[in-house]
Amino acid sequence: MTAEKKVVLLSGMQPSGALHIGNYEGALRNWVDLQNSGKYKMFNCIVDWHALTSSSDETELLVPRIYEMAADFIAAGLDPEQTAIFVQSQVKEHAELHLLLSMIIPIPWLERVPSYKEKRETLGLDNYGFLGYPILQTADIIIYRARVVPVGKDQLAHLEIAREIVRRFHYLYGEVFPEPEALVTKHAVLPGTDGRKMSKTYGNYIALGDGPDIICEKVKNMFTDPEKIHKTDKGHPDRCPVYIYRTIYDADLPVDLKDKCASGDASVGCVACKKALMQAIVDYFADFRAKRSELLADKAQLDAILEDGAKRARERAAETMILVRKAMNMYGS
Ligand code: ADP
Repeated sequence: MTAEKKVVLLSGMQPSGALHIGNYEGALRNWVDLQNSGKYKMFNCIVDWHALTSSSDETELLVPRIYEMAADFIAAGLDPEQTAIFVQSQVKEHAELHLLLSMIIPIPWLERVPSYKEKRETLGLDNYGFLGYPILQTADIIIYRARVVPVGKDQLAHLEIAREIVRRFHYLYGEVFPEPEALVTKHAVLPGTDGRKMSKTYGNYIALGDGPDIICEKVKNMFTDPEKIHKTDKGHPDRCPVYIYRTIYDADLPVDLKDKCASGDASVGCVACKKALMQAIVDYFADFRAKRSELLADKAQLDAILEDGAKRARERAAETMILVRKAMNMYGS
């Protein structure tokens, strides 16, 4: 497929902490598959300005997290040649478009975004940038005139507002952007070590960068089925994080384990199951960890990759801004 025929795709993630295996299964693995399908012109943005909405009091952590995230992306299989991997704040056009869009968006549109209300209450966020988050996210997408955005079901509302913003822009100034569409990731939400959704916020995660000792410690303390106390109690493997993760990472998972666990067969037990999972995760991510360490040991190389990605992103973003300024009759356009 020629470069022009490819569908433009924008993906992004906040560098707000360590990437975990939930992020890998729920987002990153899918991005790598999309890249390898050869159908998309991919822009992958590390959205550091977004991270500031909740971490403006720990800005010293941002740069190390950006390097770690870039290393995680590449070690997981994103290829900087095929996918422009870059840092949002290195492409200033995102900010200009965000500003221009902010002039045409009624505040109630932003206040009714479900995650705004929820996070305002749970995290106590009340800054202006946080309210404007969906506008910046829209700018991130449409600055590349992206047609598709891979998202989890939980993020569909954000894409809907992006589409509304595009329609409003077009109504006022004429057509410039494609209306971006969601490419919904079909993964299930993966549990954390405590059985709740795996999340940075809950501290119940296995990070992609965790070494063998940490992986073993975390799996050792992982919740299993709370109703299976004794080996002979009937288990519920579909609700057990250890079993769920074995189905993903353990190539040698015995086919009869599920039935044996569910029937309380004393020949299988949670301790042995955890041991098998530790080994499976340690082995599965061995190459990943080696690649990640190699990348992190050479920051100059990572800088070069991120700069090259930003350069390609800037080119496309600059083209878009010429169209936007013209459509809005801005001085000098
Ligand atoms: P976190 O909850 O750890 O802060 P984010 O909200 O930053 O994670 O999510 C980044 C991406 O990873 C999103 O696409 C989200 O859908 C996906 N993701 C996060 N947690 C999980 C999980 N437990 N299972 C599957 N996907 C997840």
